[in-house]
Amino acid sequence: MALNVLVVDDSMVGRAMVIKSLKLSGVDVGEIHQASNGREGLDVLEAHWVDLVFADINMPVMNGEEMIDRIRANPAWAATPIVVISTEGSQTHIERLVARNARFVHKPFTPEVIRDVIRDIVGVPHESR
Ligand SMILES: [Mg+2]
Repeated sequence: MALNVLVVDDSMVGRAMVIKSLKLSGVDVGEIHQASNGREGLDVLEAHWVDLVFADINMPVMNGEEMIDRIRANPAWAATPIVVISTEGSQTHIERLVARNARFVHKPFTPEVIRDVIRDIVGVPHESR
């Protein structure tokens, strides 16, 4: 089943990196939506079914943490997998994200890291990797 993905990052280059990694991941990706801040990300979620969210933290208008709080507060999205991609990798920060049931990937990343995170979320068995 193809995964519909939302990539939220105020950097166009940042979004392009994630999308490129998605395409290289070998995972069946369906629709790819993009948003440049948390507010736009929530608008995409209102309008489209999304299976997986990639989120930057530092963004104007609405940052990634506030967006994640709002996603988790909405019963329709509460269980949607979220992967945070950020240069902000302090332990406190990561713990706060884990408490919101989000995964953390440190920026910069390799396509393999994105692939492995997606496969973990989707539950691809080890032997078929
Ligand atoms: Mg940013």
